[in-house]
Amino acid sequence: MFQSALRLIYPPRCVSCGEMVERDFALCMTCWGQMDFIAGLVCDCCGTPLPGEDGGTPEYCDDCLARPRPWSRGRAALLYRDKARKLVLSFKHGDRTELARPAAEWMLRAGRAILTPGMVVAPVPLHRWRLLRRRYNQAALLSQALAEGASLAHIPDLLIRRRKTRVQDGMGAEQRFANLAGAIAVHPRHRERLRDRTVLLVDDVMTSGATLSVAAEACLAAGAKEVRILVLARVAKAS
Ligand SMILES: [Zn+2]
Ligand SMILES: [Zn+2]
Repeated sequence: MFQSALRLIYPPRCVSCGEMVERDFALCMTCWGQMDFIAGLVCDCCGTPLPGEDGGTPEYCDDCLARPRPWSRGRAALLYRDKARKLVLSFKHGDRTELARPAAEWMLRAGRAILTPGMVVAPVPLHRWRLLRRRYNQAALLSQALAEGASLAHIPDLLIRRRKTRVQDGMGAEQRFANLAGAIAVHPRHRERLRDRTVLLVDDVMTSGATLSVAAEACLAAGAKEVRILVLARVAKAS
């Protein structure tokens, strides 16, 4: 009753363009068609789309082959471009926190193959001063919605930033990796919980993978058995 009264006052709208839609937290047909959802054969490590058919054996992209990742498997829901890029940016900087729910649904669909029971879900941390300015960590909103949707344990403060790092926009991959070395650690309080568990690291965007690498290394150093990653959007090279 309350729900339907709410619907009369606030009819559900497309999270991208604001058109009225059938249900809450969804996209209209037009925006759905224009979003670059990743499907088909993907790199088993980072989720970037690969040419060819899915033959059931893991395949890897050139980036992951050239730079072995500390995590074992990974998936991404969207390609970070055009409409999807706009949506991710409005989530990051525009206080569109309501996007976490549909985004987590897309990520769950993309990541189905790499989820295992007993996993611990954790976000890539945001440095405190950046958290204050933005008021929320978009990765933590995603990881919380994801953990709920998949009935997995969520540890929002599993990882902490040990020091301030420079904003990475405009840096090349090498610079990004150097900028971040040792910058993330497992919160001492959670070390025990991590032992021999598989961790699912969540972030909004993966570019070079530098931040995720440092975060994954911190988990492994603290005793995690394995780390997998799931991101909302993957920056893929133009093919
Ligand atoms: Zn729309
Ligand atoms: Zn890859």
